[in-house]
Amino acid sequence: MLKLAAGMARLGTESAFEVLARATKLKEAGRDIINLGIGQPDFPTPPNIVEAAVKALRDGHHGYTPANGIRPLREAVAEDMWNRRGVQIDPDRIVIVPGGKVTMFMAIAMFGEPGAEILYPDPGFPIYRSLIEWTGAKAVPIALHESKGYAFSAEEVLAQITPRTRLLIVNSPANPTGGVVPREELDKLVDGLRAHPHVAVLSDEIYARIVYDGVPHASMTAYPELEDRLILLDGWSKTYAMTGWRLGWGVWPKHLVEHATRLAINTHSCVNAATQWAGIEALKGPQDAVEAMVQAFDRRRKVIVEELNRIPGFRCPMPGGAFYAFPNITGTGRDARTLQDELLEKAGVAVVSGTSFGIYGEGYLRFSYAASTEAIQEACARIRAHLGRNT
Ligand code: PLP
Repeated sequence: MLKLAAGMARLGTESAFEVLARATKLKEAGRDIINLGIGQPDFPTPPNIVEAAVKALRDGHHGYTPANGIRPLREAVAEDMWNRRGVQIDPDRIVIVPGGKVTMFMAIAMFGEPGAEILYPDPGFPIYRSLIEWTGAKAVPIALHESKGYAFSAEEVLAQITPRTRLLIVNSPANPTGGVVPREELDKLVDGLRAHPHVAVLSDEIYARIVYDGVPHASMTAYPELEDRLILLDGWSKTYAMTGWRLGWGVWPKHLVEHATRLAINTHSCVNAATQWAGIEALKGPQDAVEAMVQAFDRRRKVIVEELNRIPGFRCPMPGGAFYAFPNITGTGRDARTLQDELLEKAGVAVVSGTSFGIYGEGYLRFSYAASTEAIQEACARIRAHLGRNT
């Protein structure tokens, strides 16, 4: 018998992938399934970015690169950080990684161990809790509130900090809720963090470019007092429809860069070279494809929220960012997992139960609106019809 390390039993997963697998199976069996379960843009990567990767391969960029990423890419990220967030970042504080998830892994691996506590948003991206528990640290959920547009209360977060707290994870705009934390709430949080200098912060801003209604994205990098303990997670996956390329960046405090780079050397060595060159084109090339994509998401956002609010038993606030709607479904009399399964099996609509994102996700479903308007309308019509027949 092989004996696995104890941490393996504590690793979780992303249920969205399980729903996707079940939906695919049903599709293969001939069922007509509308998939609103997946968390990736339904657009192709813009062609200028694809061409840059092809050119890099033709130009002979086939070898290892520095573990923290090629210098011109880190410079392009620094320039982007200046243009979009108004912060001056030394390119040597930037670590290029294969996807935003890897910055998350590095930060949690760096601070998590038995006896430590890490605060994470709930409902939130399921990998936060999974990785925290894998390290043996205690995962402490921060409740997000529907009544606050799925933001946290800074006061509640600060009250959960103990001498054992090592890391606080913040995600805005958020998966799975589409919630955006208002700048005033961040101000309060950062102000309160002065009293807790032992706490590092991981700000997951992977959806920073997907925001609506002209409200500018409030970045945690705007607070110079956090510079020595803030890790910024961002990347190309969502902004440039590049989820399959595996490319992300972290901005690290100076004293942690060496540790992040060492983790890279011990795991993936570097991101494949051609993808890094494509990343430069993405940041420095024309941005009209990004703008068009966000405008399309915005139109669908309005459609889906209106449609969801027409379903008896559903109540859905307007999300401020990302491409998810997170309706409260308690009025249907079902729990979230039951309704998820029922909608997939009986209505042919794949969505994800809020409980896949944490204990505070009970009573909610996640709908991804990275799908056509027709698919969104048809999905909601099917749900209405299904619930009409079964209430
Ligand atoms: N952070 C959040 C909140 C996400 O939703 C995702 C992907 O779904 C990631 C990070 C990971 O992004 P990537 O695909 O670049 O690893």
